[in-house]
Amino acid sequence: MAETLRGRLLENEPMAGHVSWRAGGAVAKAYFPADLADLAEFLRRLRPDEPMMMVGLGSNLLVRDGGFDGTMIFTHAALGVLRREEDGSVYVETGVASPKVARFAANNGMVGAEFLAGIPGTFGGALAMNAGCHGGETWNFVERVLMLTRRGDYLERTRDDFAIGYRHVGLKNATDEVFAAAWLRFPAGDGELARRKITELLEKRMASQPLDLPNAGSVFRNPPGDHAARLIEAAGLKGITEGGAQVSEKHANFIVNPGGAASAGEIERLIGRIQAEVREKFGVELVREVRIVGEAA
Ligand SMILES: Cc1cc2nc3c(=O)[nH]c(=O)nc-3n(C[C@H](O)[C@H](O)[C@H](O)COP(=O)(O)OP(=O)(O)OC[C@H]3O[C@@H](n4cnc5c(N)ncnc54)[C@H](O)[C@@H]3O)c2cc1C
Repeated sequence: MAETLRGRLLENEPMAGHVSWRAGGAVAKAYFPADLADLAEFLRRLRPDEPMMMVGLGSNLLVRDGGFDGTMIFTHAALGVLRREEDGSVYVETGVASPKVARFAANNGMVGAEFLAGIPGTFGGALAMNAGCHGGETWNFVERVLMLTRRGDYLERTRDDFAIGYRHVGLKNATDEVFAAAWLRFPAGDGELARRKITELLEKRMASQPLDLPNAGSVFRNPPGDHAARLIEAAGLKGITEGGAQVSEKHANFIVNPGGAASAGEIERLIGRIQAEVREKFGVELVREVRIVGEAA
């Protein structure tokens, strides 16, 4: 007999409260699973043609003002297991915040995970984006992952099943799976040193990023051999606005939303303006890193 669902289903849920940009439209259905087993059961019941998307902490995501006509599944409060396995690997469910993984590794005498301390999303988001900074990249440390299919079946996969690139990861032979958990392997090392590195890294970020205003991190990928922020600044675009959205004065590859006043449309129009100006001035096509979904208003 099928289990009963134990999570929470909300309808017409405004997404501005679930994304770090604090802007955007609503999702038709929002499911907050109770745990991994409950998520699998929810997927088993979901109509196969229902548009569906996983959401972590929304730190790389914008839903257009007309909303997302489908189901979004929120992992953060549900998929929270983080433990050291007997073989020395780290098992992490995808709702765990990436900075927590950084601290856990350091506290367990492992090195290499420090970069995750500055990436304010879930580990699921880090897997989906191959999040990275300061020379570290999520997939460098992934041994294998636990996937859930749209039918709610579990499946283990190794790195070889994925095409892994800069801020991009894709399954080579399937599309209908989401990340449930991962097993990570970090080298053993000086945990105290790793903790100090985390503190330094966070101080650097506080000094260089507009962390006091709603934002979604770097808007564009860095083009080969260059920096998006450098190009945007050189194009004279620092500080320009589109409605309530502004190119950050502190870091030109960030768009900020002071007071949460911007619509998703204003943020997207500002993104388009930056791309057009940088194309015209330098002939470089800036590729968006942030994910934008849903319908325009
Ligand atoms: C201040 C700031 C600094 C940042 N710095 C960095 C940085 O240095 N480096 C960097 O790479 N990024 C950075 N980011 C961007 C962002 O934090 C990362 O991309 C992060 O990994 C996204 O995680 P999330 O849980 O917020 O994902 P979300 O924004 O919720 O989702 C992003 C994408 O991941 C998918 N996804 C989420 N969970 C799953 C899952 N379980 N299964 C399948 N797909 C899933 C979503 O469907 C969506 O397509 C920064 C963001 C901010 C706000």
